[in-house]
Amino acid sequence: VSEEEKTEDYLFKIVLVGDSAVGKSNLLARFARDEFYPNSKSTIGVEFQTQKMDINGKEIKAQIWDTAGQERFRAVTSAYYRGAVGALLVYDISRRQTFDSIGRWLNELHITILVGNKTDLKDAREVPTAEGKALAEAQGLFFMETSALDSSNVAAAFQTVVKEIYNILS
Ligand code: GDP
Ligand code: MG
Repeated sequence: VSEEEKTEDYLFKIVLVGDSAVGKSNLLARFARDEFYPNSKSTIGVEFQTQKMDINGKEIKAQIWDTAGQERFRAVTSAYYRGAVGALLVYDISRRQTFDSIGRWLNELHITILVGNKTDLKDAREVPTAEGKALAEAQGLFFMETSALDSSNVAAAFQTVVKEIYNILS
């Protein structure tokens, strides 16, 4: 391994955005620690979590930022977004209101994946998959449906963002 290769280091800041209680903190808890909190309040711990990922054989560190519940007051500050290159914009497929407010969270600076979370709540679905997909296409976003509860697509959602950033920056 050459000196150049050894010192090559990637650190990408990624932010989680979306309405309160859509599952942002639990997606991060599932991805970073394989944990789930059935009755989580708006604050589960950390400001950000750094996660090592392997993309095309390169070690990449994703520094994933979570809100401390300030989205309830629409008070997510510019400091939260500063330096971010990617975002997971999350809504809850069982609450249409969280899908209707997606526009408020759009930020053109970021590589963004639209995430419809809580797919395990099949009987309570209010936002069809096709509708999420269509919005993502219209806005030029990636799209995925996840469940932090049963783990489906959680790692894939984070990996999609990180891989895209890597492809653009490398
Ligand atoms: P945040 O406010 O966006 O960070 O949302 P939280 O992660 O705190 O989750 C809000 C509530 O939704 C909690 O009671 C979680 O247990 C629940 N929750 C989060 N993700 C899922 C999921 O994928 N499926 C189900 N059924 N509940 C979830
Ligand atoms: Mg939270």
